[in-house]
Amino acid sequence: MFWKKRTSEDRPQQMEDAMSCGEIIATPEAPATPSANPTSHSQVDQMLSYVYEKARPITEGKLADYIPELANVQADSFGIAIATTKGKVHKIGDADFEFTIQSTSKALTYCMALELVGRKEVLSRAGVEPSGDPFNAIEFSPVTRRPFNPMVNAGAIAISGLLRDVLGVEKAFDLMLDRFSRAAGRQLSLNESVYRSEAATGHRNRAIGHLLLSVGAMNEPVESALDLYFKQCSIMVTATDLARIGATIANLGFNSLTNEQVFDIDAVRDTQSVMFTCGMYDYSGGWAYEVGIPAKSGVGGGILGVVNRQLGVGTYSPRLDGNGNSVRGIASYRMMSDSLGLHSFDLTNTGSEFVSSFFTSDRAEN
Ligand code: GLN
Repeated sequence: MFWKKRTSEDRPQQMEDAMSCGEIIATPEAPATPSANPTSHSQVDQMLSYVYEKARPITEGKLADYIPELANVQADSFGIAIATTKGKVHKIGDADFEFTIQSTSKALTYCMALELVGRKEVLSRAGVEPSGDPFNAIEFSPVTRRPFNPMVNAGAIAISGLLRDVLGVEKAFDLMLDRFSRAAGRQLSLNESVYRSEAATGHRNRAIGHLLLSVGAMNEPVESALDLYFKQCSIMVTATDLARIGATIANLGFNSLTNEQVFDIDAVRDTQSVMFTCGMYDYSGGWAYEVGIPAKSGVGGGILGVVNRQLGVGTYSPRLDGNGNSVRGIASYRMMSDSLGLHSFDLTNTGSEFVSSFFTSDRAEN
């Protein structure tokens, strides 16, 4: 891999148009190639500090305030972390600052549900189509009468209901917290005041829960499934945790830091697919096009990214754009993706060693 210089001239005209009408916030240009061997640790750190300094002056966006407790954070906090599948971490800024995981949890609970009951049962609760709607839309597929996907609230609440059914009301949250902690490689905890704030004000999510019950995508009682959902969103993480969780997913579910298989290999593949197509709400298409990394964002300000077989990435900055995604987070990912060739369809993203071994050992026969 190498650093490349990408400029705004490389962007197609539609994207320039979208930027000028505010749909996409302009990203500073990617850094130029600094030297011949970019994979040395110091050069990754150099790239991180370049990205951090370029994104830090961006102050657009607003704190989420529809959950009252979420507005009580330092608006200017900003951290980035990259973790390799082998366990090495590079970080900068407030990468060890704790915030609530929010919707980023949806990728992890989806992975757990797939592992526990398999695809068929999971698909009977939520589909895998991008919705094109805001994350809190009260909108189901007219064809399946199910939420469009598990990365928006409706689908995630259905998945929490499923986990509650399978794991039991008493144990579901503890098992969830345990799994999230194993993925991060350290014990995580619940932010009680965010949880209480969400539970006290989450009436839109309650409406979604009851709608799920009415179409058969949720079992009674709705309230304990919602309680689990509110709790899962209120787990505290750091950007470093998100990077380490991403590295565990990227590493086929195996956490190299703790030497533990945390997620099932098939569930990891399905989870990344849905993250890629639906993880950034109604900006998922633009994200796949520009950044090209399976990712999941949360209104707490975090973005978790997975570069399959290579890296996990975590960013934290709580000012959000109109879609509910972190503004500095998006800007940072755009620069990192361009600089390090992390886009899934980038020439420099070589993917798995197993697949590349076919190409080195086999020659085409004429
Ligand atoms: N707990 C939040 C909610 O349900 C999660 C939303 C999000 O992060 N997009 O509204």
